[in-house]
Amino acid sequence: MELRFLGTSAGIPTKERNVTSLILDLQAIRSALWMFDCGEGTQHQILNSPIKIRKLEKIFITHLHGDHIFGLPGLLCSRSMAGSTAPLTLYGPKGIHQFVKTTLQLSGSFLTYPLEITEVQPGLLFDDDTMKVTAYALNHRVECYGYRIEEHDKPGVLDAQKLNQDSVPRGPWMQALKQGKSVTLEDGRTICGKDYLGEPIRGKSLAIFGDTEPTPEALKLATNVDVMVHEITLEDAFAEKANERGHSTTKQAATLARDAKVRHFIATHISGRYSKEDCPRLLAECREIFPDTDLAEDFSVFVVK
Ligand SMILES: [Zn+2]
Ligand SMILES: [Zn+2]
Repeated sequence: MELRFLGTSAGIPTKERNVTSLILDLQAIRSALWMFDCGEGTQHQILNSPIKIRKLEKIFITHLHGDHIFGLPGLLCSRSMAGSTAPLTLYGPKGIHQFVKTTLQLSGSFLTYPLEITEVQPGLLFDDDTMKVTAYALNHRVECYGYRIEEHDKPGVLDAQKLNQDSVPRGPWMQALKQGKSVTLEDGRTICGKDYLGEPIRGKSLAIFGDTEPTPEALKLATNVDVMVHEITLEDAFAEKANERGHSTTKQAATLARDAKVRHFIATHISGRYSKEDCPRLLAECREIFPDTDLAEDFSVFVVK
């Protein structure tokens, strides 16, 4: 599982950063890519990456501000022109359906694949074989969500030594044992896979925030996750200005990372006022409070550990 940042700028693109978009690569788990937000120019960023848009299975939009959605109609159409027939699910706040429907209709565009659009409410979005996603309402100038993504725990591995001790022969029943099921062996014995499995392998978890000023919901969203992706639009000295506009600062986001006991904090959504030279200072402000912080650049890739 890895995160690939396609855009890390707040509000407007700069020469160094495009507006917000992020890919969660789940190809090792469910042969799919998920996208979070799709600012203008995201398609061009994809062209400079190994991402294949036909692999997109789900797109999650945090809120309807342009720097998070203006790339969406073009991306949806390009996925169609690439000949995709696999369904795509789009999640976003109220109005996302109208935005997509209107832009496609007025531009005379059509899609070659089924597009399912779900308008998000706080709470569980879905829970399937491998993953569970929950939406939390944030505090921004428009309706905005953060998404908590949790991979289900996987069964532990079979203990070969114990199987040998009990003289369990290898055979087609191994698959059922791996899933913790009971099987009857050729000698008539019935054994249960659970007795031969090691500790379950803990699933990974992530909290991917939309734009927000500090809010109590944030702690619930991020508690104990492996990776938290959060905006740091402005530096600490501009806290009042940031919060007035529904944004957070470096130190506010880092404080959340510390209080929520996350393992790794990736900071993104950086104001266009900051140049490359300013970034070490922004990162230092975060690390002062939460040392395991990284600052995302466009095309940064982070493995979820
Ligand atoms: Zn934004
Ligand atoms: Zn916004």
